[in-house]
Amino acid sequence: MNYLARQKKLAAVLRQGGFNALLITHLPNVFYLCGFTGTAGVLLFQTSERSHKVTFYTDGRYSQQAHEEVQSARVVVSRRAAFIEACEGAQKAKIKTLGFEADQLAYSAYKQLGQMVRGTRLKPAAGLVEQLRLIKDSDEIGQIRASVLLAASLFQTALTVIKTGVAETQVAGELELQARRAGAEKMSFDTIVAAGPRSALPHGRASSQPIPAQGFIILDYGVILAGYCSDMTRTVHAGPVSRAHRRMYEAVRQAQLASIAAVRPGVETGEVDHAGREVLRKAGFDEFFTHSTGHGVGIEVHEPPRLGKGQTQKLAPGMVVTIEPGIYIPEEGGVRIEDMVLVTESGHEVLTPTTKDLITL
Ligand code: ZN
Ligand code: ZN
Repeated sequence: MNYLARQKKLAAVLRQGGFNALLITHLPNVFYLCGFTGTAGVLLFQTSERSHKVTFYTDGRYSQQAHEEVQSARVVVSRRAAFIEACEGAQKAKIKTLGFEADQLAYSAYKQLGQMVRGTRLKPAAGLVEQLRLIKDSDEIGQIRASVLLAASLFQTALTVIKTGVAETQVAGELELQARRAGAEKMSFDTIVAAGPRSALPHGRASSQPIPAQGFIILDYGVILAGYCSDMTRTVHAGPVSRAHRRMYEAVRQAQLASIAAVRPGVETGEVDHAGREVLRKAGFDEFFTHSTGHGVGIEVHEPPRLGKGQTQKLAPGMVVTIEPGIYIPEEGGVRIEDMVLVTESGHEVLTPTTKDLITL
């Protein structure tokens, strides 16, 4: 990973925004800028006219890990909490304008910071590192590909476990065990296995309920591999598929394909959402599509950009997004199909290799 290149970009952003330094407390941003994977670490990122200086603060528990992992930053191991030490570092540096991550810093920590850096102007900075993270570099795209392929390889495992009478949690458990065996650090989020009428819940986490003999089963899951997330959804069907269910499935599949087809540089994310939503509207299902079409994926499973109604952010090469329309009919069931898609110079590349044909059990 080229941390120095990322740091140079951030330094330029900070200069442009009138910041002399940025206190980075959001761990995914810390990881992005220096490679630290632990849970206690703060970066003080200082810029001058031409150069920048990065100091990483952690506590004694992470001493060895920090020295092994952290790159392109000076490591300070403290007896006190990393945040306090970083605040003191900022105070000693006599920074004129210090940015803080306004979306991430707790109010109590903000007050503490204010008390420790008297004479420094604190300026809220929202999403500065996140803006850089929008465009994945080639190392990141490689990691994301590996994460997507690992997740996709687990779908076959899931299919061998899903049977009428088996609890949803058992399906999730088997999937998660195989993920760990294949080297995943953890799941990107709590695995969703939602069967029968529960498939109408867009976020139906696996429950103790057994898989019924009839109806849709939504599987939505992902893994974290080397710090990068994947996220995919497939919907399968238990028992004979009624004509109504086939129509539902086909509508979602066509909507998903339409949104994917709209993905290319320069297109507003709202247009991608609109393309799929139009397909569902024409099929009479739009009122049952109750969430947005997708989101960015990278170090975090949900990160910018958002692909929703009316969103005006433009897609650019290097963005990785999900396309995941769905239909949820209360008491009846639901369908969602989700792929991860890379925005390329000329259009897009679907990263998820898994079939979208309706699989029946
Ligand atoms: Zn998902
Ligand atoms: Zn998703």
